[in-house]
Amino acid sequence: MTAAHSTSCGPGAIGALRTDVPSLNLTTTGLYDPPPARNARRPRQQPESKSVAVPLKQTLRIGAYVLRQHLSGAKRYPLVLMMEPLFRCNLTCAGCGKIDYPDDVLNARLSVADALASIDECPAPVVVMAGGEPLLHREMDRIVRGALARGKFVYLCTNALLLEKKLDQFEPNPAFTWTVHLDGNREDHDHAVSRDGTFDQAVAAIKAARARGFRVNINCTLFNNADPARMAEFFDFAHSIGVEGITLSPGYAYERAPDGQHFLTRRTTKDLFRTLFRLGKGRGWKFTQSSLFLNFLAGNETYACTPWGNPTRNVFGWQRPCYLLGEGYARTYKELMEETDWESYGTGKYEKCADCMVHSGYEPTAVTDTLNHPLKAARVALFGPRTEGPMAPDLSLDNQRPAVDRYAEVLEEGRALLKTDPS
Ligand code: SF4
Repeated sequence: MTAAHSTSCGPGAIGALRTDVPSLNLTTTGLYDPPPARNARRPRQQPESKSVAVPLKQTLRIGAYVLRQHLSGAKRYPLVLMMEPLFRCNLTCAGCGKIDYPDDVLNARLSVADALASIDECPAPVVVMAGGEPLLHREMDRIVRGALARGKFVYLCTNALLLEKKLDQFEPNPAFTWTVHLDGNREDHDHAVSRDGTFDQAVAAIKAARARGFRVNINCTLFNNADPARMAEFFDFAHSIGVEGITLSPGYAYERAPDGQHFLTRRTTKDLFRTLFRLGKGRGWKFTQSSLFLNFLAGNETYACTPWGNPTRNVFGWQRPCYLLGEGYARTYKELMEETDWESYGTGKYEKCADCMVHSGYEPTAVTDTLNHPLKAARVALFGPRTEGPMAPDLSLDNQRPAVDRYAEVLEEGRALLKTDPS
């Protein structure tokens, strides 16, 4: 019953898996093309038959980047820069852990100059604009244009309430994708965001954006009350209105989310995704994530988190350790990468990470695994994640350090940075 577009907004940017046409690239891309299940329903109308979840040019450029990093022996490198130019939102989703800041923080904005300087600092080939609601930032169009001019692939995550109104400020570009937050069909989505009419507004905006030639994906966060059969119908519907790719995510258990009752455990996440992938066979869904990340969601991989893969820049600074978890801030990207105690985070290391299976930390791990085991990635791409049989062992939680409530301390640290470096 909850939604947090911020959970699933992200690095669906770097891979693509679809259920109808096999292909594979070296980086994150995987796709699976299992034969249609007996009695499987065919996808409804798919008017954008030439659309792809991730363009080939993007896949190749990011693949080359990842390969260069590996060949150079880089120990840590970023894939996606998560940018939160503001925390203010025009919705109050019960599963969101980003919007309960005091007003002075909600009113803060990352300036265009600071946003672009951060993009220059961080070599990630993909930039995801998230928040809060990025379209509440009056100069979001300038930030997007600046990022595109720097050769980045840009994804703008939005609840779409302002999308039609702001469409004129943006231009279609193969490197620019709207990522619209939709957590299910009309009933499920409106319930999730606690406002009737939101689904219809988002769908109208998606159609308007597609009609104008924009690329449009959706991001979809799943909680423990997700009904796989209803979600399957929703995915069919999304493709029928021209959505090019779906980014899936299990909801991260934000400790400050108003509704903490519906977050998934690791086991329920795996069961849910296995059911979903079984239902998806032969339906032509296009996911934006890699085959091995989806294999991980289906319980077939034992992955440790790669928390530096998606560094996060918000109004305070560079958030440690990741987009989901705020445990402090660095002033610069370099400081973030060099002075964060990365070994303290991830499932099995920290209680707050225990149930996390979000792409923010685990898609970069899947990328590395793809490079190390391309044949496995190809196999999953062709046949899909295994949805029956034993699951891969999970990481032990026996030695994880207990959760520490650092909210007040971290908020003060952030506010101090806001005062010294007003954005
Ligand atoms: S497991 Fe990784 S991505 Fe998830 S909250 Fe922990 S550090 Fe962040």
